[in-house]
Amino acid sequence: MKEPTLGNPQNTIAVLQKYHFVFQKKFGQNFLIDTHVLDKIIRAAEIGSDDCVLEIGPGIGTMTQYLACAAKKVIAVEIDRALIPILEDTLDGFDNVRVINEDVLKVDIAELAEKENGGKPIKVVANLPYYITTPIIMGLFENHVPLKSITVMVQKEVADRMQVGPGTKDYGALSLAVQYYAKPYIVANVPPNCFMPRPKVGSAVIRLERYEEPPVAVKDEKLMFRIIRASFNQRRKTLVNGLKNSPELDYTKEEIEEAVEKLGRGISVRGEALTLKEFAKLADILLKIR
Ligand code: SAM
Repeated sequence: MKEPTLGNPQNTIAVLQKYHFVFQKKFGQNFLIDTHVLDKIIRAAEIGSDDCVLEIGPGIGTMTQYLACAAKKVIAVEIDRALIPILEDTLDGFDNVRVINEDVLKVDIAELAEKENGGKPIKVVANLPYYITTPIIMGLFENHVPLKSITVMVQKEVADRMQVGPGTKDYGALSLAVQYYAKPYIVANVPPNCFMPRPKVGSAVIRLERYEEPPVAVKDEKLMFRIIRASFNQRRKTLVNGLKNSPELDYTKEEIEEAVEKLGRGISVRGEALTLKEFAKLADILLKIR
């Protein structure tokens, strides 16, 4: 196996110039140019020679090279067609990498894990495109992709949002999904000068370790997340109005009011005041109604 060649500003610039690469803002392209950060991510993800890794958005293949050296196999899903010939070049000699030119949100990752790793849990490692962090993480959890862990670079503010509870402005569907499925741990804060081009905001590497058993019991997990999404889609409204207006739910106002009262909350409560345990209880109550 070859040694990584990328991860510093000089070699990154050389590759970009060779291919006359133009950064696409719409794809959230900020490439890592710091080998210390790359080492830290690989160490935090605890990649071993038995692991199959999914990398979302390999860019020019910087982290992919590091992952290839540590893992059994790397599947890298990249949306930008202009990066594919570059990846063929930078990953030449890294024979355990498969690059897929697709929008990751359109890929059936559970099926991919089945095909590439015989259904055994995979590890997700990525410097995520920030514009779709939430749908990527929620999708991995809600679609029950067999996962050992997710180690990702995200906007610092999003990393914070994953760890907060009710009563804070950052509390939302992502916080609840993370709390239900995984134990979050901030590995490192990463300043803008570790990327090319520099993002406007600070970043953080976060590791999410999937629980064997979620910390609360709920009979219909999908219903609970429909309720959670409906509550936060209309943050300023009461919980009752949020649920009543949701196209994903089919309960009358009276049924919802009855359920919220059974929960022990007044009908003017807002969704953002409820804990994960209360959302689970509300889902069980609504499930019983119909
Ligand atoms: N991993 C590289 C690195 O660390 O240098 C690049 C990270 S960059 C923040 C995000 C990458 O995700 C870009 O290469 C971008 O083109 C890609 N990307 C953006 N949206 C995507 C999507 N929907 N599906 C797959 N890849 C995507």
